[in-house]
Amino acid sequence: MHSDCLFCKIARGELGTELVLETENFVAFRDINPQAPTHILVIPREHIASLDQLEPRHGEIMGEALLAIQTLAKQENLDQGYRVVVNTGSHGGQSVAHLHFHLLGGRSLQWPPG
Ligand code: AMP
Repeated sequence: MHSDCLFCKIARGELGTELVLETENFVAFRDINPQAPTHILVIPREHIASLDQLEPRHGEIMGEALLAIQTLAKQENLDQGYRVVVNTGSHGGQSVAHLHFHLLGGRSLQWPPG
């Protein structure tokens, strides 16, 4: 837990952010600057700075993250598909140093990304 990390604060409920899903190990909330009709961030409660900092002990909860994303996609009626993105490091475009999965959907998304 990092006291000055924005997403740790959200996970602890300190910013009053509405959570769209809460499990023992994860919380999910809507992105403040949505890039698609559905744009949700799924984050571990544990402070993990990025995908690059994952350790073997995180293996099991990462499976939980993907199942949480599947649940959210159903909740959001993304029956035509969706995209999951994990920006990592500066070249990956990561701006918040707390691991997060972007769930994007509700429109046809382009590929490749910029
Ligand atoms: P990334 O650029 O991959 O690190 O993603 C960080 C995301 O966090 C961006 O899409 C931001 O719009 C989003 N974000 C930043 N602050 C907040 C906040 N307070 N509540 C919700 N989303 C946020």
